[in-house]
Amino acid sequence: MNEFDLIRDVFQRHEAASHAVNQSPSDALIDCGIGDDAAVINTGLNKLVTCTDTLIAGRHFPNTTSAYAIGYKSVAVNFSDLAAMGSTPHSILLALALPQHLKEDKNWLDEFANGLFACCAEHNVQLIGGDTTKSDVLTITVTAMGFAEQCIYRNGAQIGDAIVVTGEIGSAAFALTEIMQGKPSKLQSALDTPSPKVEVGHWLNNQNIATSMIDISDGLLQDLGHICQQSRVGARLDLEKLPTHPYLNRVDLHGRLALQLSGGDDYELLFTCPKKQLNQIKQCELETSLTIIGEIIELEANKPIHLFYENQSYLYNGKGYMHF
Ligand code: ADP
Ligand code: MG
Repeated sequence: MNEFDLIRDVFQRHEAASHAVNQSPSDALIDCGIGDDAAVINTGLNKLVTCTDTLIAGRHFPNTTSAYAIGYKSVAVNFSDLAAMGSTPHSILLALALPQHLKEDKNWLDEFANGLFACCAEHNVQLIGGDTTKSDVLTITVTAMGFAEQCIYRNGAQIGDAIVVTGEIGSAAFALTEIMQGKPSKLQSALDTPSPKVEVGHWLNNQNIATSMIDISDGLLQDLGHICQQSRVGARLDLEKLPTHPYLNRVDLHGRLALQLSGGDDYELLFTCPKKQLNQIKQCELETSLTIIGEIIELEANKPIHLFYENQSYLYNGKGYMHF
């Protein structure tokens, strides 16, 4: 059972069963529950968008990661999920489980806080509460809240839509391979202090351009797979178009594509939009680059995603990041 089976077969199923028995008045207010990048609650005026993500030392970041990067990233990964809904972050809660030696380490705590508040400050966000406990393994859970007038979901992709991504793909995974080999990496900042694409998400939402959106945190193939599954469509990817940092060209083509298709931690946005809107996208004045990498096609049984490299079918068996 992988993490998605577990969420569906245990939590989503029990949630649905408990509501079948106990019709709750809160039902009417929930626009989106389990299954998207964040949950959406209809407050009447605005939508309250909320998500939570946990980072565990040695699992989600190497033990050598600086305290500043850990603080920054624990916030950034959540803002990325809010961005994927088209929502603007408003506030966060911080649940911190600290080993004894870090609780005594004032420098570490200050640096952690510096990173956390740097990411908050970039988005005008306040820390409004949390919880602090002792644990053998450093574990950080941030819950983020944001607002939006409307949201962009994973289930709206239409056949014929273009598939577009922000930024560059594969940089964080490449940095991780270098760090794991004990080498310094030029792309370390992609791994340590990712920039959640809040501005792009907000712009797309305002322009009413995107039909579906997700953030790429678990690898391009896996996350595009969620769009395909929830929108009941297929996708064609043209791999020669993947936006790539020049530094990745030192890896052979197949190795690089594996990093780009299956590597996690990119925190870029992937969205779909009608091709007639592409001009609007090309003319936008955003800080982040947008690249068309493929198109939404009809779903073929058991094969949602078709890969091509320079119009030749490309064989690839890898998957994305799985927690289990
Ligand atoms: P993301 O990668 O965007 O953070 P995940 O893959 O972690 O999303 O989770 C997929 C969906 O499952 C999300 O809607 C998330 O809120 C939900 N989810 C994950 N774990 C649980 C859980 N233990 N109980 C309920 N919902 C969960
Ligand atoms: Mg996400």
